[in-house]
Amino acid sequence: MRCPYCGGSDTQVKDSRPSEDGAAIRRRRVCPDCAGRFTTFERVQLRELVVLKRSGKRVPFDRDKLQRSIDVALRKRPVEPERIERLVSGITRQLESGGEAEITSEAIGELVMEGLKGLDDVAYVRFASVYKNFREAKDFEDLLGTLGDAAGPAAEAAPARSRRGARARP
Ligand SMILES: [Zn+2]
Repeated sequence: MRCPYCGGSDTQVKDSRPSEDGAAIRRRRVCPDCAGRFTTFERVQLRELVVLKRSGKRVPFDRDKLQRSIDVALRKRPVEPERIERLVSGITRQLESGGEAEITSEAIGELVMEGLKGLDDVAYVRFASVYKNFREAKDFEDLLGTLGDAAGPAAEAAPARSRRGARARP
């Protein structure tokens, strides 16, 4: 595995241990050239997935890309890296076991939003605001109405929830 800092190709494994309930192996590596340290994960890849983008272009599914977009949404949020790992793995596994060889980028976006909703409200709004590309403030209010629902019965009972965003509840 090449060193991400100096490009050296002779990195060494210092420590290996199971991660994600045994679904992955986490390795700590060190580069003898620059003393840089980094972590790699080894996982089973069940199938090759293709993502159909909004533009109509097809690209191979890239777990790292999924991880990065989730990392951006969660920047500086108090969420443990292990929980983020589990979310990314969960989404990947769901896609791999879905029976479809081709997935739309929208479907992936929906899964990410669903996952972030349970993890961190701020990250959810960040991701959704980029993903849904809001044009009107009203869309944003509707989203916040959804957030209220996700918070459970206690939030529904609060008077602040009876604003416009919540009106469309069936
Ligand atoms: Zn290095």
